[in-house]
Amino acid sequence: MSVAIFLVFVASPVSLQAGDKEETIIAKTHQAYGGDYLALARSINIFEHKKLLWPGQDASLKQPDFFREKSELLIDFEKRRKTMLSWRVSRTSVDLERFVFDGEKGRLYDILNRKYSDEDWLTFDSVGVSAVRASDTMIARVLPKLLTFAEHVGNGYFRGALHEMLKVRFLSGFEAILYIQQDTGFISKMERSHLRAGTLSYIFSNHIHADGIVYAQDMNFFVGDQPRQVSLDRKVTLNPSTNSAFDVPAGFTPWGEVLKTSEWKIQEVAKNTYLVGKGRSYTVFVDTGEAYIASGGQRDFRDALEKLYEYRDESKPVGSFVLTHHHSEHLADLPDVAELGATIFTVTEHLSAVKDRVGKQLKDKQIQEVNTFVSLADGQVEIYDISTAHSEHNLVMYVPQAKLLFAEDHYETQLKNALPRVHKDMINFKKAVRRLKLDVDAYLDGHSPRILTNEEFDQAIKLYGGEACPEGYNICVQG
Ligand SMILES: [Zn+2]
Repeated sequence: MSVAIFLVFVASPVSLQAGDKEETIIAKTHQAYGGDYLALARSINIFEHKKLLWPGQDASLKQPDFFREKSELLIDFEKRRKTMLSWRVSRTSVDLERFVFDGEKGRLYDILNRKYSDEDWLTFDSVGVSAVRASDTMIARVLPKLLTFAEHVGNGYFRGALHEMLKVRFLSGFEAILYIQQDTGFISKMERSHLRAGTLSYIFSNHIHADGIVYAQDMNFFVGDQPRQVSLDRKVTLNPSTNSAFDVPAGFTPWGEVLKTSEWKIQEVAKNTYLVGKGRSYTVFVDTGEAYIASGGQRDFRDALEKLYEYRDESKPVGSFVLTHHHSEHLADLPDVAELGATIFTVTEHLSAVKDRVGKQLKDKQIQEVNTFVSLADGQVEIYDISTAHSEHNLVMYVPQAKLLFAEDHYETQLKNALPRVHKDMINFKKAVRRLKLDVDAYLDGHSPRILTNEEFDQAIKLYGGEACPEGYNICVQG
C-alpha cells in the first residue's frame, strides 16, 4: 500500500507580510472546526475504534497480526482532568482498562481484574496523548496558540484538492507539517519525522459536521509507507457531562507493591544458575563447568555478563545462547552474543530473523537449529520448543536439577509478592508445560526479576475471571 503524496510543490509567495498567510490559514481552520464554541468548550469526548499492527511482534515471521482497540477519552478542560477507557483485543489477551488523571494524581484501573495501581506517569498531558494527537479537531482547537511557531511552507494537490502546507510546533515540543484544504480549512494530513521510525503520517478523511464542530471519521496512520493503524469508527462530542466520570469505582483493590528495578540485580536462583539484569531485561546464565549457557534479555548482554563476572570473580566464556523467539527486543542481544563467539540456539522458522539481525559476522557454526527438544551439557540444561499465541515457536530453557524454567513474554509481573495478572496466553503456556510433563518448581522470566513459584502460577490462573465484558461497559458489549 502506498501513501498518496503531494504532486505539486510551490514555494511560498514572498509578497505577503510574514505571518499574514499563516494567520489566515489558521483562522479559517479554527473557524471551520467550530471556532470559539470549540475553543471554549468545557469538555470533549473522543471515541475511536481501530485496528492496529505491531511489526516485529507477530506470532510468526510470515504474516502480520492485527489487534483491535476501542477507546473513549473524556477531557475536562475546566478542571484539567482526563479519563480514558480502553478495550483492547489481541491474539494473546483482552484488556479493559481506565487511565485516569483526576487533577492531582494518576491511576490505572484494570476493570476485568477489579484492581488498580497508582501511576506517576499518568498526568493531564499523558493520559490519552495518542488520541489527542490523532484528532484533527484537537489540532484545530489549539492552532491559534501555535501561530507564533507556524510557518507556511508551500501548497499543492492532495487527493485532488488544493492544500496549504503549514509547519507548526506544538506546545509539547514536536513539530509537524499540516496539510490543510484550501477551500474548507479541513486538516487532511499531518506529517512528522521520528528519529528512528522515519516519517509518521496521519491521514484524516471523511470529515463531518456534527453539533457545531467538525471531525474526520477516518484517521489512518502510517510509518513510512506501512499502515499501522486503520480506523473503523470515530466520534467526537463536545461538552459531554463530566458528572460521575471521575468517581472512584467501588470494589477495586490495589495490585500490590512493585519491584524496584532501576539497579542491576544478580540472583543465584539455584546452584550454578543466575538471573542477571535490570529494568525489564533479565538474562539467565547456567554455569555448566566449562562455559555458560545463557538465555533471555533485551539488550546490555555484555553488561549483564560483566556483572556476573564481577560477582563470581571469574570469566568463563558463554558457549551457548538460547533465543526464546523472534520478537525485535529479544533479537537485540544477538550481535553481542555472536561477537562473543557463542552458539545461538533457535528454531528454523526464526533463522532468517537471526541472520538479519546479526549480519555478516555470524558464522555458520554459530547456529544450532532446535527441532522440538535438545539436551545440553550432559543434561544440565534442556531446551524445548512450545507453541503459544504469543509466538508459534518459543524456546524455553529447563534446568532439571533445580526444576527451573526460563521463558519470555508469557508470565511477566513486576509485582513484588502478589499474584500476577493473568491473560489467556498464560494459560496456553501452562498447558504446554503440562503437556511436556516437566516438573517445574519455579518460573523465571526475561522481563522481571520476580521468581514465580508453580503454586503462585496455578493460583493466579485459578482466580482468572476470563474475558467477559462486565455489566455497564458499553465499550466491550460487542466484543
Ligand atoms: Zn515476544
